[in-house]
Amino acid sequence: MTTRMDSPSPTRLDRRCDRCGAAATVRVILSTGHDLLFCGHHAREHRPALEAAGARLSTQA
Ligand SMILES: [Zn+2]
Repeated sequence: MTTRMDSPSPTRLDRRCDRCGAAATVRVILSTGHDLLFCGHHAREHRPALEAAGARLSTQA
């Protein structure tokens, strides 16, 4: 019955980078509970700022 914010969302069909539209390889869970998807390039670029803001990054296959 517990809904975890960090659980995978199998209903998400469109897994593309929110910045450039490339295939997403990294999911970012913000401290607010929202999530973002980034390609490897943008995940790497934004990672320091995201982690500084308390976000968690998880790599997708
Ligand atoms: Zn990108």
